[in-house]
Amino acid sequence: MIDTHHGGLRHSDYVEMTVHFRCNLSCRHCMILDSMHWLTPADDDEFEALLQENTTHGKWKGLILTGAEVTLRRDLPELAMRARQSGFEHVRIQTHAMRLADPDYCRTLVDAGIDEFFVSVTAATAAVHDRITEVPGSFARTLQGLHNLDQFPGVNLMTNTVITRLSYDCLPQVVDLLSSLRHLTRMEFWNYWPMEETGNPELLVSHFEVRPFLLRALQNARAHGRAVEVKNFPHCLLGDLGDALVNDQPELRIDPRFWDEFNRNGFHQCAFRDECGSQQCLGLNAAYVNHYGWHEDLLSPLPRLR
Ligand code: SF4
Repeated sequence: MIDTHHGGLRHSDYVEMTVHFRCNLSCRHCMILDSMHWLTPADDDEFEALLQENTTHGKWKGLILTGAEVTLRRDLPELAMRARQSGFEHVRIQTHAMRLADPDYCRTLVDAGIDEFFVSVTAATAAVHDRITEVPGSFARTLQGLHNLDQFPGVNLMTNTVITRLSYDCLPQVVDLLSSLRHLTRMEFWNYWPMEETGNPELLVSHFEVRPFLLRALQNARAHGRAVEVKNFPHCLLGDLGDALVNDQPELRIDPRFWDEFNRNGFHQCAFRDECGSQQCLGLNAAYVNHYGWHEDLLSPLPRLR
């Protein structure tokens, strides 16, 4: 299994815990938009047990606090401080960064020990981003949050842009938009996870429409010195940039009922599944196949390594 090195660390060096299931955006592509109202976040006993587990066994170097929007938790700084005091070398949050438009709040989080920020940037313009999030003004606040964080030495910024019909054609512009950020180390591009067998036709987009924009975004990002990661896109369609496909994830501690929803994606569907040698590819998913078919004439199985 390929690991992505990031500051010398790999996904397997991190554990991710869902500690909050509320959000003040309504991103149309959100994987938990329909389930966040019934998913249960980890409680304090589970959080403390995770810290103890790491103190005892030293399994991970970093903790990722996630869920929906963790900055809505008032005690986020305390959680981060407890994690650092228990021995985690890094604490990351997954966030839309709107609250980080307030420089004082940035300072509070950084002082509490949060040194990595994985920020969702859904598009390259306010018009598209705010349409996706359904909150006017969200784009400006997210960008301000990123630029505020970029002022802090030692802070590590990462972004994710979800690829949907609403966003695919602005991926290279997203890279350009963020080109001045000095502490942006990695840009991720997650192809839409439908989370159901049919998928949303407003969001589904053919891999062949996406490909030229995605490849250009990856090339641009690498030209700016960023690491890149693509998730859930056919390996064989990435050509020379196939090494950008990294579907590995940190270990995720989440309400187990989430996996019933996740499995509705129906990954690993491919006409070449039995013969393809890709170790990373998730193939096609159920909603995609239902919409666009199998592409038997357009996909090319990768050779098996001996
Ligand atoms: S042939 Fe199928 S499994 Fe192999 S890389 Fe292409 S999409 Fe993935």
